[in-house]
Amino acid sequence: MRLRNIPGATDVIENSEFCINEPSSLKGKWHEFFNNDNPIHLEIGMGKGRFLMDLAQANPNINYIGIERYTSVLLRAVQKMDELQLDNVHFLCIDAKTLNEIFEKNEVSKIYLNFSDPWPKDRHAKRRLTSHQFLDVYSQVLSKEGCIEFKTDNIDLFNFSLDEINDSSSWNLDAYTFDLHHDDKMNVGNIMTEYEEKFSSKGNNICKLITSQI
Ligand code: SAM
Repeated sequence: MRLRNIPGATDVIENSEFCINEPSSLKGKWHEFFNNDNPIHLEIGMGKGRFLMDLAQANPNINYIGIERYTSVLLRAVQKMDELQLDNVHFLCIDAKTLNEIFEKNEVSKIYLNFSDPWPKDRHAKRRLTSHQFLDVYSQVLSKEGCIEFKTDNIDLFNFSLDEINDSSSWNLDAYTFDLHHDDKMNVGNIMTEYEEKFSSKGNNICKLITSQI
């Protein structure tokens, strides 16, 4: 998702109480920042952030950080948070490849990846958020007991992601389905994202996997 450039978006984001402008200064201090010991969960590539805000309302004892690299997209999430005023949600406008500059090992308990950009060309495989290069970055911030949950309707990206995990000696494939909405076990408590609603309403199956470190 890349909306057209919105004049003033950067200013709004830099001045929003929900966006953290120099997140690397909080490396190792995120629990102090939230002023509690609650687990920290990230959504990477959160788009307009509805999934994250729905989760945060349902789970007030979890701290959520939404990550989105484009200001034009993040602006929509900030506008929604201005209405909701949730104290367990913050946003970072960064590229996820820098996560290890922002979080210490073990600071993050869960990472959500929802409908990540497919980058269909082979030469762009390392940009996919489930590539082994990104999995390596996640392993530098995620706790040993932590996990990644990934949803997509893109079968090529899903198969690529299964291969990256199965080929890795660091990640275990805990569960997966090629049809989440008809999987009685994995669909329990599912919160739909904006893309999930859009693509499932067109008849696309939604795939989901859960992976954790060995
Ligand atoms: N997760 C939302 C959903 O399911 O409705 C939005 C999905 S949208 C297709 C993917 C989003 O991920 C885009 O807004 C894009 O800007 C963001 N994104 C892609 N690569 C990223 C990266 N390396 N770091 C941060 N955000 C990224």
